[in-house]
Amino acid sequence: MALTPPLKDRPRVLVVGGGYVGLYVALRLQKKVASTGGIVTLVDPLPYMTYQPFLPEVAAGNIEARHAVVSHRQHLRQTELVQGRVTSIDHANRKAVVAPADGGEPFEVPYHEVVVAAGSITRTFPIKGLAENGIGLKTIEEAVALRNQVLEAIEAASTETDAAKRKRLLTFVVVGGGFAGIETITELEDMARTAARKNSRIDVNELRFVLVEAMGRIMPEVTKEQAEWVVEHLQSRNIEVLLNTSLDNAEGNHLKLINLPDKSLAQEFDTDTLIWTAGVQANPVVRSTDFPIDERGRVRVGADLRITGDDGPIPNAWAAGDVAAVPDLTGGGVGGFCVPNAQHALRQAKRLASNLWAARTGQPLVDYKHKNLGAVAGFGQWKGVANIMGLKLKGPLAWLAHRGYHGLAMPTYERKYRVISNWASSLFFGRDTTMLLDLDQPRAAFQAAASPKPKPAPASVAANPDAGSTGVGSLDKAAAKK
Ligand SMILES: Cc1cc2nc3c(=O)[nH]c(=O)nc-3n(C[C@H](O)[C@H](O)[C@H](O)COP(=O)(O)OP(=O)(O)OC[C@H]3O[C@@H](n4cnc5c(N)ncnc54)[C@H](O)[C@@H]3O)c2cc1C
Repeated sequence: MALTPPLKDRPRVLVVGGGYVGLYVALRLQKKVASTGGIVTLVDPLPYMTYQPFLPEVAAGNIEARHAVVSHRQHLRQTELVQGRVTSIDHANRKAVVAPADGGEPFEVPYHEVVVAAGSITRTFPIKGLAENGIGLKTIEEAVALRNQVLEAIEAASTETDAAKRKRLLTFVVVGGGFAGIETITELEDMARTAARKNSRIDVNELRFVLVEAMGRIMPEVTKEQAEWVVEHLQSRNIEVLLNTSLDNAEGNHLKLINLPDKSLAQEFDTDTLIWTAGVQANPVVRSTDFPIDERGRVRVGADLRITGDDGPIPNAWAAGDVAAVPDLTGGGVGGFCVPNAQHALRQAKRLASNLWAARTGQPLVDYKHKNLGAVAGFGQWKGVANIMGLKLKGPLAWLAHRGYHGLAMPTYERKYRVISNWASSLFFGRDTTMLLDLDQPRAAFQAAASPKPKPAPASVAANPDAGSTGVGSLDKAAAKK
């Protein structure tokens, strides 16, 4: 039985989640809190922070999966790390319950202050067949699986003689035309084309990529003109863009797409690759707490990032990032709140850490205020779109801006170096289209080797069963006679 981790008996700042917000809060506070005899404890089921903007590039083989994550153990040396999932928080009694990642017994973690930083999860709808046949792009594991799925499908199609099966293998669908969806479909299309060119049994024109978007436009983060240019760009790469279209059914890998708003049938076809990137929602774990939650399931916070109910701020409770409804004091945002993105999460984390420390030392708190700098997106090698503080870029310049921004934004110098090395390697050697097989069955080869089939009986033994009774084979007998 797994042991409950021996927790430090010191006044604790409990950080729930080690993504953008959790990592930066812990980095900023671990030393200061330790200097006062306290401890920062970070709980996350994963041992790393995932740099989610790199997931499309991991899926498309430009960045090595391990380089797109930041190890907690390596970079949070003065933080107490607990690998597990917070399942509930009882702030009135300053206790959280943690279910260990190894499946052991849940245990309680007492704390003095709590930082809720559990991020978001993929938002889905009750569409038949979606859960069974779809895949999201929110975790590094999904990105790795997606990469192998696309490359395996191309390889399998290259030896498939049944036209319908071949078509289904070579059809790739992305639902959701936000940043994540467009980056995913373009990066994958770039990789698929490279892989198909290396395979003489596949014609690049056989690849079919379909983008499904329920709204009348894609990428709300850029201007309407830029979004229209992106649609033209996708179409120039033979990516089908279906606007005002929704996925209605995905049972048996047979997709039924409907037109909106009249719900008439738009198209139906088969695919083995259905990728769902249609938005996120606040992590539902916050519903198992005694904190105030808004109608969209986010923790309510004030501009100073203290969790705030109808009666004002709740002492010693903080939240930021995708899980929190942070007022956008610049007047932008959706419904007056900051949109869930890394740009805000990173800056909110730094503000939260400063405010938490200020609250401890009796200093005034400062409100979070950040004017969105814009957006940068990469669409595969040398292609992209950007809107940086009103400066609109397309093509190679936008792609360079995308790489420049994310290269700098990747946390820690060590990870920046690794990612930039990946990019440099791709520029020299091209995109890496090596697929790794059997990742979900790593013991298959060993099991086959360790369970050999019984050796066939030698011919002479088979002809004369008595000859085998000595246990010596015919060659051995011949040798024995000599
Ligand atoms: C494919 C993709 C591309 C993106 N591209 C961009 C981009 O280009 N620019 C941009 O600004 N933003 C982008 N984003 C959004 C950005 O990544 C998020 O807004 C940001 O990660 C939010 O940070 P966070 O700390 O709130 O949550 P996260 O970074 O998601 O961290 C949440 C952490 O909480 C942990 N956790 C979950 N449940 C529990 C629990 N019960 N107990 C303990 N821990 C828990 C998770 O394991 C995770 O480590 C992208 C997102 C995706 C998915």
